[in-house]
Amino acid sequence: MPGRTIAIAGGGIAGLASAALLAREGEQVIVFDRMDAPAPIGSGLILQPVGLAALDQIGAGNRMRALGAPIERLFGRVRPSNRVVLDVRYRALGGKAGQGLAVHRGALFEALLEAAAAAGAELVPGREVVAASDRRLFFADGTTSARFDLVVDALGVKSPLAGHSAPPLPFGALWGNLDWAGKPFDEAALEQRYEAARKMVGILPIGSVRTGAVKQASFFWSLKHSDAAAWRAQDLDAWKQQVLQLWPQTAPFLDQISDREQMIFASYSHRTLSSPLKTGLAHVGDSWHSASPQLGQGANMALLDALALSRALGAHREVSTAMEAYARSRLAHIRLYQLASWLFTPAYQSESLVVAWMRDWFLSPISQVWPGPGTLAALIAGRIGSPLAAIEAIGDG
Ligand SMILES: Cc1cc2nc3c(=O)[nH]c(=O)nc-3n(C[C@H](O)[C@H](O)[C@H](O)COP(=O)(O)OP(=O)(O)OC[C@H]3O[C@@H](n4cnc5c(N)ncnc54)[C@H](O)[C@@H]3O)c2cc1C
Repeated sequence: MPGRTIAIAGGGIAGLASAALLAREGEQVIVFDRMDAPAPIGSGLILQPVGLAALDQIGAGNRMRALGAPIERLFGRVRPSNRVVLDVRYRALGGKAGQGLAVHRGALFEALLEAAAAAGAELVPGREVVAASDRRLFFADGTTSARFDLVVDALGVKSPLAGHSAPPLPFGALWGNLDWAGKPFDEAALEQRYEAARKMVGILPIGSVRTGAVKQASFFWSLKHSDAAAWRAQDLDAWKQQVLQLWPQTAPFLDQISDREQMIFASYSHRTLSSPLKTGLAHVGDSWHSASPQLGQGANMALLDALALSRALGAHREVSTAMEAYARSRLAHIRLYQLASWLFTPAYQSESLVVAWMRDWFLSPISQVWPGPGTLAALIAGRIGSPLAAIEAIGDG
């Protein structure tokens, strides 16, 4: 039977993962992205065990394991007391639970791009999508695509196909990829230092962008959206002094920053569509649900969406039935993690002294007492709500 025709709008993590999986199932897939050429840009990110399981299905898991940095622990201290207020260890889940894998976003992008192309997906760069209707895409240059059996919206957080956008959260962050500085930093930990919840500096080892390239870290500094312009106008050394006051050991990273352009401001927003479906259209990834990266789940959710979408289309020939199965398999996990992200974000990024106090003197101590360590590790690992089992069950009964 000939494959169905599927247009994927957006060639980011969700779009390329969907393309790789669907093309491998025999669907005729075309991916449209506004970028003229694929480029390895952006921060690092942590792939959780559930996201890695999805990457394994795509055939890109081992490539990412060879490049990335295994993460065993998420660790943070608050200044000036130096109290430990974040300590999540994957081993609290038991031996077989796996760990996080921090990767360069460019490395993940290249792996997904190659997997999609190898599976037979067609990739069309330089096409800015502005609208979709009747299973067609409309482009900024005034042209319209052919009619497809299904349009997949993988345009990310600002998707013009999602109906409404959300305002940015008060806090975003400056992100830059720098060469790994070695000791005293832990090569297997995401480490952060805070002042209340209004200041945060973090270091995430991310391995190499490609084989043989130097090992790197993502360096980030929490910044209010409203202060981003002032930061650009500020003297770089004055900012470095602020960072050093919070975490003096970061000097070898700061020494590598000679130009503001090395640090990119990322704003975050929190938005969840009540359903990922419109007639002839399915949302995947951030176009359906976006959040701040405090829980580190966005890329994992995008990979899980892609896996669920391909399973549903594999199990049901009728596209509308498949889309209902897709939505059903993902809804509970997404609602749960969007809620958790909404609750946790202010504990690490807000002006509130009360919230910071609650984090330091209530949440942090109880999280170290059973069943806190295992529950937090399961939350970070993306396992709560058993997303893989829900996807596996598509087509049953
Ligand atoms: C600083 C930062 C750190 C993060 N850290 C983590 C982490 O540690 N772990 C984690 O799991 N997640 C993390 N995330 C979240 C994760 O990056 C996102 O959830 C993920 O990238 C979503 O994938 P996506 O494919 O839905 O969207 P995107 O990756 O944003 O891809 C969207 C694609 O659509 C294209 N596009 C957009 N608009 C148009 C248009 N109009 N026409 C044509 N093409 C268009 C873009 O060029 C892009 O290729 C982080 C996010 C940020 C910003």
